[in-house]
Amino acid sequence: MYQETFVLDDNLPPIEANKIIAAGSHYQECKTCLMQVYEPSCDRDRIENRMRIQRETLPKANIVGMTTLGPIGPETEVPRDPMITLVYFEDSGFSTYLFDCHETDPREAGKQLCEKIAETDHVQGVLLLTACAMIVPTPVIEELEARYPDISVFGAQAGTEQLGNDQSMVFTSREICDRGILAVVFYGEDLHIKTDYNLGWRPIGREMTVTEMGENGYVKTIDYEPAIDVYHKYLDVEPDDAFYSNVCAFPLLTPSGNRLIARVPTHYSDDGAMRFPAMLTEGSKVTLSYTKPTYLLRNSLASANEMAAFAPQAIMLFACINRRVYMGNNHADQEFDYYRRICPGLSYAYGYGEILRTPEGGELLNSTIVAAGFREGDIPEGFNAKQYADPDLADDGSKFKSLSDRLATCLEATTADLKQTIGDLEQLVNRDQLTGLYNRRWIDEEIDQRISMHRRRNDQQFALLMYDIDHFKNINDAYGHETGDSVLIELSRRVKAMMRNDDVVGRWGGEEFIIIANNISLENAVKLAERVRESIAAEPFSAVGTVTISFGVACAQEDDTPVSIFARVDSALYEAKNSGRNCVVTH
Ligand code: GH3
Ligand code: MG
Ligand code: MG
Repeated sequence: MYQETFVLDDNLPPIEANKIIAAGSHYQECKTCLMQVYEPSCDRDRIENRMRIQRETLPKANIVGMTTLGPIGPETEVPRDPMITLVYFEDSGFSTYLFDCHETDPREAGKQLCEKIAETDHVQGVLLLTACAMIVPTPVIEELEARYPDISVFGAQAGTEQLGNDQSMVFTSREICDRGILAVVFYGEDLHIKTDYNLGWRPIGREMTVTEMGENGYVKTIDYEPAIDVYHKYLDVEPDDAFYSNVCAFPLLTPSGNRLIARVPTHYSDDGAMRFPAMLTEGSKVTLSYTKPTYLLRNSLASANEMAAFAPQAIMLFACINRRVYMGNNHADQEFDYYRRICPGLSYAYGYGEILRTPEGGELLNSTIVAAGFREGDIPEGFNAKQYADPDLADDGSKFKSLSDRLATCLEATTADLKQTIGDLEQLVNRDQLTGLYNRRWIDEEIDQRISMHRRRNDQQFALLMYDIDHFKNINDAYGHETGDSVLIELSRRVKAMMRNDDVVGRWGGEEFIIIANNISLENAVKLAERVRESIAAEPFSAVGTVTISFGVACAQEDDTPVSIFARVDSALYEAKNSGRNCVVTH
């Protein structure tokens, strides 16, 4: 495998570049040849004309291409000339599929793509390029994930010359589409693909919740306030022409699997809603984030060094323009250079959003560099990956720190303090001090939320198991209040140890407790209560001997309100007490 890249500027018109390529031994001797075209112009005629030239002069090259993102601010340098990158394969191959989403919706495209993959042996990865900012590739990624969880998917959403005027396109040798999904399926027994992404942004400030979504991916409110207020309040940014440039260095972070992914707003509406190129949903937890150029560079250098150990023969990078806007052009070039040291002919492109899904998670990303490294055959024996140490990142020994670095450190430390304080307060507000279990306030809120979720989705089956110590007053009377307390503590510990991780135990008050058990039928909830009851009765307490408990059990029903479910569980417990105690009753 071999990769080479050309920038088609005034000195190198397409015909001349093609002559050089056609004369090269790699082109002549390769089995298959992929030509990626990254086109800053959204002029359809111009692209069609170039494609025609490529077809006529380089018939062996299969073209896949997309338009790239234009500059965001006056100082941001993005490629103004088309870039063509050739990857020559010796044994492996690839198939290209373009789905026109005027006719096929992304989910259907995903299903059809899965069918194509099913017909292909040894698929190692899928390059996905999509056009039209309104096409979110998530359904395609989901379909692929469901059927082929081990195949990585990487790529980008095509960009547009002018932000706010979406003219993005994807194209192949013969077709061009302004609303399409282009997939390149790479296969080969000896083909290896390694993917990774670099983010480097860190959360700052308190965690917030998306509270209302509008149409077309607009986030209407965050913590019940117009979404845009987040940027107004914390960054003093107004919804005006400079909105994107002002906010793009401060993406919102949200968890995806074990990792954090960034979401950058691109549009806003008069009512203060913000649109993100990648989906957020109601209930998504978000935090503002920030970074320092050194964080980004260190993060990328570490990833590049890891990539070097893979011994790639070709590298494709898909980068977010935010990084360039934030770090400046030199630093942004430096990031690419880390990878260029490994593969001098690498490709890079700025799209609207980056795509990466691996078995570890991810999907549509913002603010990252997605890297895909390709290799045919094994890593050569005795291969010694060159690990690069950037002298610019070394501690220069200077005692003086820049103002922005000091401010960032201050914010970071303040955020850590804030998190600690919020954690302490949450503990105070939500937990019972004696037993450490959740308190009544927390349980009330939790049940409210679960009931409303249960109503909406009807798949959140849960049960309430309320239990109360039998004749606890006698224990207090016989052994004293302090010993009574120790029984409450020991009981809490023992019941908690019997629960699954996602079940919740709380102290409802006095010597009355409650378990919220998830995804459980009434029958199994009763079994669970019986198990706990028996276990408590079977093993005497260290200070007071045998203690028994009585249970009331109820399952959430479709038309339940918090009042109705508590009424059932209460009356069940009451009946258990009247039926001789140390038993389980359900209503
Ligand atoms: P039953 O079987 O009907 O539940 O009888 P009981 O004695 O357990 O119930 P009752 O409601 O008559 O008495 C509950 C007792 O629990 C009275 C109260 O003093 C005691 N209690 C409530 N909270 C605490 C606490 O935090 N520590 C201690 N030691 N006792 C408590
Ligand atoms: Mg009692
Ligand atoms: Mg009681």
